[in-house]
Amino acid sequence: MSQNVYTLPPNIIKDMQVNYSQSLVSAPQGAIFRAKTAHAVITAYKSGKVLFQGSAPEVEMAKWENKAAIKDQPKQTRRSVSNHSLAPPTTLFENDHIGSDESGTGDYFGPVTVACVYVKQEQIKLLRDLGIQDSKKLTDLAVQKLSKEIIQLRIPYSLLILHNEKYNTLQKQGWSQGKMKAMLHHHAIDTLLDKINDAPYDGILIDQFCTPDVYKRYIATEQEVLAPKTYFMTKAESYSIAVAAGSIIARASFLNEMDKLSENLGVPLRKGASKHVDQLIAKIIADKGYDTLNSCAKTHFVNTEKAKAYM
Ligand code: MN
Repeated sequence: MSQNVYTLPPNIIKDMQVNYSQSLVSAPQGAIFRAKTAHAVITAYKSGKVLFQGSAPEVEMAKWENKAAIKDQPKQTRRSVSNHSLAPPTTLFENDHIGSDESGTGDYFGPVTVACVYVKQEQIKLLRDLGIQDSKKLTDLAVQKLSKEIIQLRIPYSLLILHNEKYNTLQKQGWSQGKMKAMLHHHAIDTLLDKINDAPYDGILIDQFCTPDVYKRYIATEQEVLAPKTYFMTKAESYSIAVAAGSIIARASFLNEMDKLSENLGVPLRKGASKHVDQLIAKIIADKGYDTLNSCAKTHFVNTEKAKAYM
């Protein structure tokens, strides 16, 4: 059983109670409220813990996932994340393999991008010498330059961009961001496997963002299964040059899309999800109307609410 618990601030728990006002049932002792929907039973406690149980709790969790503070998530859950049977053999990093990583998931503005890259054993040194590493450790300029260099080397890769309109539509249909990411990785890998035909590989490594079981559950809801030899590992970009290359191509694509969106809007968009972003949201709503956000932002992020403080 996965830990379906979020720790949420009191104002969000209040929002939830309003949101579920049509579905409230009698609350157990110590609870603020309990609601029952078609997908889950949601119980909020005075401690700030909110428990999601039932047949499809992820549907309800998706509505609130970005409101939970990551630092508040139980340590146990995070530690157990890497403790699974689909960890890669250490020999994978030095042999032919595929790596997949995403970008834009924590940024209020801009799309989610996923890139996966096929690296052959004899290319590993070349890529290391180029300076390929975790994109989070590189400046935007370096990311853009290295992405071009990887592509010029004709290293096989595939890139998917989930634009904001589609993201917001899926989110409103009940998709969690986790499910979107899983399906993007899955399709990117599928496309790359087609591209490389029968080229040999020792494994496919996904930079882990949820447990393999949860990932498998996400793709199973769309009648998909894992490709053979798929592995999961957190911080994979620090170990696998293929994942690192994927992280660079995905980030470069995200930055490129942000530039395009900024140009179309005539407003330079900000990365991340800080209070500067909240202020910018308020300005965009004032200048261009709320609907503009649908084409450039992940509107379910708590920032949309927080922007009200600046209006
Ligand atoms: Mn990653």
